[in-house]
Amino acid sequence: MVTVATSRGAIFLDRDGVININRADHVKCWSEFEFLPGALDSIRRLTETGLPIFVVTNQAIVNRKLITTEALDDIHKQMIAEINKAGGQITKVYHCPHDTHEKCTCRKPEPGMLLQAAKEFDIDLAESFFIGDAWSDVEAGLTAGARSILVMTGRGPQFVANVLLEYTVRVGAACDLEDAVTLVLSALQGDYIYATPRLRRSFHMALHPQEFLVL
Ligand SMILES: [Mg+2]
Ligand SMILES: [Zn+2]
Repeated sequence: MVTVATSRGAIFLDRDGVININRADHVKCWSEFEFLPGALDSIRRLTETGLPIFVVTNQAIVNRKLITTEALDDIHKQMIAEINKAGGQITKVYHCPHDTHEKCTCRKPEPGMLLQAAKEFDIDLAESFFIGDAWSDVEAGLTAGARSILVMTGRGPQFVANVLLEYTVRVGAACDLEDAVTLVLSALQGDYIYATPRLRRSFHMALHPQEFLVL
């Protein structure tokens, strides 16, 4: 019997500010790589969906000569080893080494890395999710045709107004990766929510601190 391969969705994760703590001075070696609380367990839960997971990261520090490609690959090898130990899997890490002025097609918000993964692994981007902490992540996901989720870890709080202003049905928001997992899981069950209950509660408490009642 011949089975026709059908393409499937995937989960794309930005790295800094989503998986690990975003450092203003960049992650230049493994000792500077610090997993965010709950990130490892979240990747395990995403792995359990059966969808392949890709890490998609802008690393202009390569072409700015702050890190070698070998050192960056080494960080990713160690990151994947820790993720595997926790029961998670990463299919591939894509990085863009270019700086803004180089005008490449892979540096987010350009969707190049997602398109590359789609080609290499037969991914249906319309069925995919991109979780990131910067508006350039959201844009890259949308341009590629995926659903984007902005998390409030890392640089996320800077971009929360964009979510409200440029509201589209394919942008969601969550507190962190763990919270984004609940959004992905409910979307996979056909129920797409735009802001997780946890995020709604935090917004509500920030706006109405005097109230005992929360949403
Ligand atoms: Mg980031
Ligand atoms: Zn690039």
